[in-house]
Amino acid sequence: MKYDVVIANGTLFLSYGEMGKRDIGVKDGRIVAVEDRLEKSDADIVINASDKVVVPGFVDSHIHMDKAFSADADCCCGLLDACNHSKQELTAYYQGWSSEDIISDMMENIEKVVQQCIVNGTSAVRTNVAVNPVVRTAGLQAVNRIREKYKEKIDILVTADCPTGMEKEWEDALRHGWIDFIGGYPNLKEDARTHRICYDDRKLRNAEYIFALSEKYKLPVDLHCDESDEPDFTLFRYICEQTWRRQMEGEVTVSHITALGARGAEEEAVADAIAWCAKAGVHVTTLTGQNLFLMPEDRRGTTRVKQLRDAGVRVAIASDNVRDAFCPFGNYDLMEEALLTAQVHKLGTDRELLDIMNMITYFPAASCKLEAYGLLPGCAANLVILDADYVPEALRSQAKKSYVMHLGKIVAKNGKIV
Ligand SMILES: [Zn+2]
Repeated sequence: MKYDVVIANGTLFLSYGEMGKRDIGVKDGRIVAVEDRLEKSDADIVINASDKVVVPGFVDSHIHMDKAFSADADCCCGLLDACNHSKQELTAYYQGWSSEDIISDMMENIEKVVQQCIVNGTSAVRTNVAVNPVVRTAGLQAVNRIREKYKEKIDILVTADCPTGMEKEWEDALRHGWIDFIGGYPNLKEDARTHRICYDDRKLRNAEYIFALSEKYKLPVDLHCDESDEPDFTLFRYICEQTWRRQMEGEVTVSHITALGARGAEEEAVADAIAWCAKAGVHVTTLTGQNLFLMPEDRRGTTRVKQLRDAGVRVAIASDNVRDAFCPFGNYDLMEEALLTAQVHKLGTDRELLDIMNMITYFPAASCKLEAYGLLPGCAANLVILDADYVPEALRSQAKKSYVMHLGKIVAKNGKIV
């Protein structure tokens, strides 16, 4: 067979671990062969991957493209402060703008995000997009225009919540195909009197509403859940149980659940909630960098990654807020987030680091419901060639991304977009 590209002699990262020294043949955007040795003389491009690791393209399953690079985090003293600060900034900034002006302003930022993701080896992102009375659906339109523009270079998926009073516009956006996942913040509400964001004690009812939307529109669910410093994770437990009762295994993702790691959390209750999560096949996303930054100084602020993994829960690591009111750090570099997560949770053995690599590849791919993902014949040729000879070393040394390939085309090389 004549291949478009042959990646020769690389160490491959498969979901269960490494496979040493194989050739990958790529044709028409797909991986068509993985063998000890492939015929290379006819191939258009041959990449020598000896002493390199080949991993499937990274999947950043929880970001906020429409907020990125928007503000400093000067006044952040926790989640609610950040929410209110972000809301005020957005209102002040976009007040009186036309929808088209908001869209083009947002597109500039979103394009910057997307380029940074591509350079860092990310082949798919799932972004939350805010729908609210200030920007209405401008964010959705901006993201979708960029999605179309970059469709040959990266897959962009969209999560959006349906705020009260905006049901009609949200439904229109659904019909346009601008939304792929039902989002939501069931723990939070806007106070009717002060208009400030605060915690909502009707969180279970809010979750009910989100499940009803999911059922009505036949879309999977991707939620912010129990992102607090109080040891109350009843929402998490409830969502897991509901997922199981509604037979929605694999259709629900919850992010944050920092409450699981809060001081005072009862071990028995934690174990029970995690067992439900595993049983129901609920995906979890941990947002290490952002959670560390937003939580109080006297605690760690992340969820229980190790315990979730020990129970068999598929945990993804994602970038979340990057350089906005919620967090002044981040580079849309999942290798960086992965190393930070490994350090914080003391996951340092080779075996544990292989699992960490799963958390930025196969696990988020499952949460995002990506099809034909991986390095086997038939998969989309979305991959990264890392300058290290085995996966744990690639993470420890933050190996250079020599090549980033999307649908069989080289889209970035040595940190530059091609
Ligand atoms: Zn988020």
